[in-house]
Amino acid sequence: MHTESPIDRLLERLERVKATGPGRWSACCPAHDDKSPSLAIRELGDERVLLHCFTGCSTADVLAAVGLEFADLFPPDSRAIGHANPERRPFPAADVLRALNFEILVVAAAAGALLEGKPFSDDDRTRLTLAMERIETAVSLSGVNHG
Ligand SMILES: [Zn+2]
Repeated sequence: MHTESPIDRLLERLERVKATGPGRWSACCPAHDDKSPSLAIRELGDERVLLHCFTGCSTADVLAAVGLEFADLFPPDSRAIGHANPERRPFPAADVLRALNFEILVVAAAAGALLEGKPFSDDDRTRLTLAMERIETAVSLSGVNHG
């Protein structure tokens, strides 16, 4: 029987963990070949842990990659499990931007090529479409309004 909190259990298994604010971290995603940290992690007031890979790995993939299960994201005697409402805006915009760093560079490079009148290859288009999808998903997670 150990008394580790869920957040410690997770963080000790991740690479390049960096605190980004109170109860917030970024790290490299263990479920894909992550070159810049695209995993955002939050600890909620009741010790529950939220995580999200901004390149699209599911939480289940991330947990499996480090040998944990969903139950490991909850404190041991958690009455929260059955009642936990998923948060509509789980991650602050600054964390989302940090995690999206690479996708934003992809889009910026494409915009530069477009302005110079350079042709796009099919691969360029596919990669650009993927970047747009990731950015859209991330914006909705940050709760930023399209207004
Ligand atoms: Zn990932």
